Amino acid sequence: MKTAMSHEVSEVSVAHFLLKSRGEILMDKNLWDKCVAFHGHECPGLAIGFKACEAARDKLGIDFSKDEEIVCVTENDACGVDAIQVITGCTIGKGNLIYRGTGKHAFTFFRRDTGEKLRIVFKPDSVSKDLSREERKQAILKSPVEKLFDFKNPTFDLPEKARIFNTLICSKCGEGASEHKMRIMEGEPVCLDCFDEYLRGW
Ligand SMILES: [Zn+2]
Ligand SMILES: [Zn+2]
Repeated sequence: MKTAMSHEVSEVSVAHFLLKSRGEILMDKNLWDKCVAFHGHECPGLAIGFKACEAARDKLGIDFSKDEEIVCVTENDACGVDAIQVITGCTIGKGNLIYRGTGKHAFTFFRRDTGEKLRIVFKPDSVSKDLSREERKQAILKSPVEKLFDFKNPTFDLPEKARIFNTLICSKCGEGASEHKMRIMEGEPVCLDCFDEYLRGW
């Protein structure tokens, strides 16, 4: 028989971000620790990514993606993206984390199996700017996702699956690169480093 309530909570919470117990919101400490270990430090930005994942799970039923069944389009390259990689398994290496650099704290999740999609946009005013860095992090982690984010329909579509390309050898430096990244110069294939850009406004 279990004696300590906190023990029961920590066991159950392995699979969940939050549990509501006696009206209190409890965070999955194990999962947060995993994110911190990967990212290197605790910060408000990491907390935003952590909560975006919680929202993605609540609204789209998203769990860990072993292949490309879930795709995340991130609109920033800030701290929060590291929590997304740890929790959802959307990573640069697997090709299911796409960078779309608008500089917004927005993350869009797509499910290839159901076709569902959701753009999760952080509301800058949802947490007071007068708080210290530590207080801001705590406030984000304790807030309900509805307070932190707007939920929108993305205007862009699900990117195609990651393709595998042939490698071509650059005629200048001799390094190999994917053929879709190569250019032609004086009739020979060259890499982007060796290519002389010709830009005259057209
Ligand atoms: Zn950080
Ligand atoms: Zn080259």
